[in-house]
Amino acid sequence: MVSDFGKRSELFWPPMKALIREVLLSFWKVHILHHAGEAPVHGQWIVTELRRHGYEISPGTLYPLLRRMERLGWLRCKVDPNGGRRARKDYRLTVEGRKVLGLIRKQIEELYKEVVLGAHSNHGGRRA
Ligand SMILES: [Zn+2]
Repeated sequence: MVSDFGKRSELFWPPMKALIREVLLSFWKVHILHHAGEAPVHGQWIVTELRRHGYEISPGTLYPLLRRMERLGWLRCKVDPNGGRRARKDYRLTVEGRKVLGLIRKQIEELYKEVVLGAHSNHGGRRA
């Protein structure tokens, strides 16, 4: 599966940086949308969950990403008012985020059919 990607040691492998920036960041956002739609999630939970999938995401990558998703209106953040300066932030999916996730799900399905299952649509008849 994906377990060989994003391991700590591989973060220093130069092509990995490009792979993270160009592709994996988007995968991580999809994971976050999916999980935030099931139950509120917080930073450390996301780090642990992505690690379970074989990805290593640093806080320096995760937190700006969460803020961006919040700014886009996909996630809403709730901070424990009694938690002080280091209060845990819980993120949940907004109505807008759920719409985005629905669109992404269709696209993943399409992509999965073609890239993983190898069902070739006949665009341009290139395979004739
Ligand atoms: Zn997951």
